[in-house]
Amino acid sequence: MLEAYEVDLNRHLAKIDREESREQAIESRMEQSMGVGEAYHPCDPLNFIEALEEGNRALLKTALELLESGDFATGGQLLHQIANDHWAAIARTDAEADVDGDCDRCFGKGCRRCDPEEPDPFFD
Ligand SMILES: [Zn+2]
Repeated sequence: MLEAYEVDLNRHLAKIDREESREQAIESRMEQSMGVGEAYHPCDPLNFIEALEEGNRALLKTALELLESGDFATGGQLLHQIANDHWAAIARTDAEADVDGDCDRCFGKGCRRCDPEEPDPFFD
């Protein structure tokens, strides 16, 4: 028979596992949706233009100053950063909504709760 503190500890550990699984699922979806040819790819030309319009203005100003001063490497890096940050934020919001709509036990990986045919990684 488990002591009360063991029950609490197990509950706490299960919660940490769920949070880690959720974060992993979110990051994996972000990586997917930001890949080459995908909807949120930062270096898709139209996405890049949108990021310059809607992204971090202070960073854009700095990037342009760097380009004007002839530091094309750092300026270019910053432009890339602006696009990446902008699309990562959108991809994260999207991924979070997706993941939170999934089974809160396996976050879309598949388990007996969401599909009785699935092998269950939590028990098998
Ligand atoms: Zn599931």
